[in-house]
Amino acid sequence: MFDGMDLLGSAVVLKTATAQQRTMQLTEEILRLQQEKRSGPPCPYCGEPQKNGEYELCWNCHSKLVWIEGHVCEPGREEELRARLKTETEDRKRSERERLEHEARLAAEQQKQQEQQSRDAYHSRLFGLVVVLCLVLALWLSWWWGPT
Ligand SMILES: [Zn+2]
Repeated sequence: MFDGMDLLGSAVVLKTATAQQRTMQLTEEILRLQQEKRSGPPCPYCGEPQKNGEYELCWNCHSKLVWIEGHVCEPGREEELRARLKTETEDRKRSERERLEHEARLAAEQQKQQEQQSRDAYHSRLFGLVVVLCLVLALWLSWWWGPT
């Protein structure tokens, strides 16, 4: 049976489901925004994370901020920040180079190992061939000089 009450019930269920979905979407959006806010560099005065390059004043304590390459500092301390960024970049470059060198060494070692393995395989095949040849020779000799 399908009457008015059923219809009303279905409509309520549908409405609740839609509302729930909407609430979930909003919650996700809020979480995303919070995450975005939290991921920025901290204000040098109050430590609250700043959204990348967005404000010239801290959204929290309203202090004046200077942005350099996605980092934030107090006005007048730009040189300090630039020097720090430069050191960090050099450190990053150095560790990147060390990582590459390490990988190259590993690859070279692996290649050496593989070469050694293929050499070993070649030697064992050669040894097998020599053994077989000796056996054939022994058989042939025993047939040649053997008692008739
Ligand atoms: Zn602040």
